Amino acid sequence: MKTKTRTSDRRLIELDVSSTTILALCAECPHWYSLRLTKEEAEMEGCTHEERCHPESKDFRRRVYFAQLKRKERARERKE
Ligand SMILES: [Zn+2]
Repeated sequence: MKTKTRTSDRRLIELDVSSTTILALCAECPHWYSLRLTKEEAEMEGCTHEERCHPESKDFRRRVYFAQLKRKERARERKE
């Protein structure tokens, strides 16, 4: 069962990850979406959309920033 406790966590942009493609969607813009082959590309598209259409929200850009930091850390751990 999912409990929604933090209502402030409303997410504007979501990435819908399937086995072959990544679909970036915006909760406020049903006409906008972006279908990409890699997560990095979908993240870029989402960031660009947020910046252009929702400059007041930095949520997605913040999430992408930390996700990319984590990926870099993991890549570094694999090398060592
Ligand atoms: Zn939007």
